[in-house]
Amino acid sequence: MAEGKIISFNEGALEVPDFPIIPFIEGDGIGPDIWRATRVVVDSSVNILWGEKRQIIWTEILAGEKAYNHTGNWLPPETLESLRTYRVGIKGPLTTPVGGGIRSLNVTLRQKLDLYACVRPIKHFPGVPSPIREPRKVNMVVFRENTEDVYAGMELKQGTEQAMALIAYLRNNYGWEIPADAGIGIKPISRARSRRLVKAALEHAIKQKRKSVTLVHKGNIQKFTEGAFRRWGYEIAEELYPDITISYDQCNGMPPEGKILIKDAIADIFFQQALTRPDEFDVIATTNLNGDYISDALAAQVGGVGMAPGANINYENGYALFEATHGTAPKYAGLDKVNPSSLILSACLMLEHIGWEEAARLIEEALAEAFLNKTVTYDLARLMPGATEVSCSKFAEIVCENMKKASQLNLF
Ligand code: NAD
Repeated sequence: MAEGKIISFNEGALEVPDFPIIPFIEGDGIGPDIWRATRVVVDSSVNILWGEKRQIIWTEILAGEKAYNHTGNWLPPETLESLRTYRVGIKGPLTTPVGGGIRSLNVTLRQKLDLYACVRPIKHFPGVPSPIREPRKVNMVVFRENTEDVYAGMELKQGTEQAMALIAYLRNNYGWEIPADAGIGIKPISRARSRRLVKAALEHAIKQKRKSVTLVHKGNIQKFTEGAFRRWGYEIAEELYPDITISYDQCNGMPPEGKILIKDAIADIFFQQALTRPDEFDVIATTNLNGDYISDALAAQVGGVGMAPGANINYENGYALFEATHGTAPKYAGLDKVNPSSLILSACLMLEHIGWEEAARLIEEALAEAFLNKTVTYDLARLMPGATEVSCSKFAEIVCENMKKASQLNLF
């Protein structure tokens, strides 16, 4: 077997060897099924394109139930260490431990590695069932701030000494009357973290030649957190890219050729408009809780959770963790039944991140072909008249066959 090398980061860019070591977390529940399918597809794409010249050297790291059963720890320190060392990793879904001090392994991983941008592309594949009339109009990329907002984990339980003390302090110092039986949560939204998230969204829009960046917020009500996020978003666009971006007010919503429109939308109306006129949205930059709701709601428009990929990225040091966006679906665990597309498409984001875009394109085309041919897993088959239902592993096999056919026809 070829010797793997570490991916490094130099002057703002990843340096990727031909045999990069990439750690994977298989995940719990359906994790092993979708991971096996994903690995086969990724390895096959790399092999088709580059033969023996390139190969990913996978190395397993533990988290979740499997880690707990082997080590007594849901998230062993070596796992975080490996992700730091190897910089880029991929994971299946993880069971959220009940009790034991960890609220969510995903949130912990994102915060410990400061993976500040949760990136979720939402694009429709022709043929995939959708609840909306014109799903082909949906083509957005959501940049969700990943480290603060109500996810900062600063909550005090109702009735505790600390909650009572904080309630008293707020009454005495600010005149805020909070019911004595309230639980309390803190929502920090900082200037630096808002700016770096919006900067990532802007740079993505510039690189991918997107038309607009929409800042989604609840600034009408939460002026100093959500409202400030909006203001800082416009501020950084103006500061860093005055020649490439133009705000809605400056051009009445009609940007001149070559300029990226920067606009904003209040979260509630955004949900309506994303349904009624999805083609007016392109790159979305938003705070953590809004982004959580938005990415799942948009995923529903293009085929549901089994289809939506996710990436958690720190653009300042290249650390990145790619993941299926759904959970462990315990009732389907080990049945070789579920749709592996979310993790396969997340792997495509990973391949793009390391600069192996050709492999990502090859996989996406092969997936698109499978959807068009209606050879799909149960979740899509039940909504597609005339579809052939296949298992998770068979679906991966079909994607590999499609890639081979495409490469023989020199379509790549
Ligand atoms: P879930 O996403 O695991 O499953 C809900 C339902 O969605 C399933 O019953 C199934 O019908 C469908 N589904 C999910 N993935 C699918 C796929 N790939 N193909 C086809 N259908 C699919 O949500 P849940 O039941 O609320 O959560 C189960 C566990 O997963 C919990 O422990 C939860 O905390 C955890 N979770 C983890 C993540 C993560 O690791 N990123 C995300 C969400 C939930």
